[in-house]
Amino acid sequence: MENNKQSLILAQARNKKVFSGSRPTGRLHLGNYLGAVKGYLALQDRPDLDCIYSVVDLHGITTPYDSKTYQGQIREVVLDYLGCGLDPQKCHLMIQSQVPEHIELAYLLGTIYPVSRVEQLPTYKEKRAENPDYLNVGLFYYPILMAADILIYKSELVPVGKDQLPHIELTREVARKFNSMFGEVFPEPESYETNGTYVPSLIGSGKMSKSVEGSYINLTDSLEEIKKKLAGAPTDSGKGDKVPEEGGVANLLTLVELFEGKEEKEGLEGKYLGDGIKYSELKENLANAIYKELQPIQEKRKYYEEHLEEVKGILEEGRGYCSIIAKETLREVKRAMGLV
Ligand code: ADP
Repeated sequence: MENNKQSLILAQARNKKVFSGSRPTGRLHLGNYLGAVKGYLALQDRPDLDCIYSVVDLHGITTPYDSKTYQGQIREVVLDYLGCGLDPQKCHLMIQSQVPEHIELAYLLGTIYPVSRVEQLPTYKEKRAENPDYLNVGLFYYPILMAADILIYKSELVPVGKDQLPHIELTREVARKFNSMFGEVFPEPESYETNGTYVPSLIGSGKMSKSVEGSYINLTDSLEEIKKKLAGAPTDSGKGDKVPEEGGVANLLTLVELFEGKEEKEGLEGKYLGDGIKYSELKENLANAIYKELQPIQEKRKYYEEHLEEVKGILEEGRGYCSIIAKETLREVKRAMGLV
């Protein structure tokens, strides 16, 4: 019986795989939603694909975190996912550390990847600069573990924001190298990009990120909270002979384009070059547009907050499904590497 179930799962698993994840370092924000989760939603609707979406808790512990509240944070991200519309009938939801084969594959892939290539990654350099007192081996291994997260399911498509593209490139490189050394095992995954692949920070520089205080608007924020956060976003006098291409104003205009459309943004650019922008008005309209998009997410999330047993069941299904595929891939990898 158990064997039949496994064969059935492996047969289903033949569909082209999709994998992606978010770190539970805080609740999801607009960047995660537009850059990644919107892609998850688009792909879960395609019948030719088999989507696995994860809370990558092992990545979240490579930067400072609170072990006492961590389980709660993981749950928040799962609830955010479900609120956004990830549908357990159409995709599998899993917690990375519950399928330890990810770690075993990461170690194996780490043995074929040069240290110097990881050191050159912009994401690694950024994280080093953000946490100079917390440089750990885990952080260094992050991109290799991410390659393992993707390759353990032989995933072919990875919906991610622009900040993650170097990691997808690395994953492709690892897959190529493995195949050339040990024989064809892995496909070379491609990224899947939405049109919000880079949502800028509210503080005027860099991307919106959970780990940068003041940079983000969470999916669970109320209209008042959104207004308060936007009020703190830096601006200028409102006019000039050139529309800024970076900094606080440029970032606000990008958010206007993402939530109110290109025309609205172009209108504001015209004002900047003419009579001037009234930022209080811009921020009021933007807050309303953002909240309009978030309100249905918050309503759906509320349902799952009140049905935590159902959420537990969804994660259990994901763990079981993913474990079977992961074990199968790992067996194949070990055979190819001469370990069994
Ligand atoms: P964070 O940096 O906020 O902790 P994660 O590293 O957990 O986010 O990333 C989760 C997903 O969200 C990834 O696919 C990442 O590319 C995407 N993402 C994160 N920040 C942004 C952003 N500002 N704009 C677009 N996509 C983003």
